[in-house]
Amino acid sequence: MATARLLLLLTVVAAAAGSCFCSGQEAKPPTPPPPPPYCGSVRTAVEAHNIIGWKTFPADCAKYVADYITGDRYGRDSDVVINEAVAYAESLKLSGSGKEVWVFDVDETALSTVPYQAKHGYGVQPYDHANFLQYVAGGSAPALQGTLRLYQRLLQLGIKPVFLTDRTEDQIAITTHNLLSQGYSSWEKLLLQPIGLQTSTQAFKTSERKKLVDAGYIIIGNIGDQWSDILGSPEGCRTFKYPNPMYYVA
Ligand SMILES: [Mg+2]
Repeated sequence: MATARLLLLLTVVAAAAGSCFCSGQEAKPPTPPPPPPYCGSVRTAVEAHNIIGWKTFPADCAKYVADYITGDRYGRDSDVVINEAVAYAESLKLSGSGKEVWVFDVDETALSTVPYQAKHGYGVQPYDHANFLQYVAGGSAPALQGTLRLYQRLLQLGIKPVFLTDRTEDQIAITTHNLLSQGYSSWEKLLLQPIGLQTSTQAFKTSERKKLVDAGYIIIGNIGDQWSDILGSPEGCRTFKYPNPMYYVA
């Protein structure tokens, strides 16, 4: 009996060994090399505004930035920002004057351009203005859900949203449609750049915030994915930098 069991065991082992070495299955394709280890450091430096004026994310970090945007990390990083913004807003003693506003950037803050970025290398390819305009004109940019959550909480608290974007005034109809269709149901103002304006985005946005303050508004908070959204006095009582390693706007 013991001999029979031993023979059976040897037969099974031999069969298993055969399947390992003689199955005829095609070899798996080689695993692509991991992204260079510095890609995460570049992203951190970008978010901290230590690298400025950059045109594209390093080309050999294409897989890294794609994985970051399409994976869980981008959402988690965004949630940390939004949770902090919500906690800050909830901590305030508001006057209820109707003049307390929160400034939101639009692209990559209220609305996502990730569907466009997916077709253009997530930031490792040079910016293509014509194609980007086509994306905006489609009016189907999805809401960034964290920002929508902040927006809804601010409405509950009595803080009025102001959208301030470097989209141009000829895009007001499609931008309005896109915001409404994604759940941004009302706002105090939607401020777009005049066509042909020659100043930087930062100068334009700073000027518009100053007009708000001069008109008696109190900018409770200001959130954008670019440093040019949140730098320049009056910035607002607090600013929040939404993550974006895909492009840089001065
Ligand atoms: Mg933006």
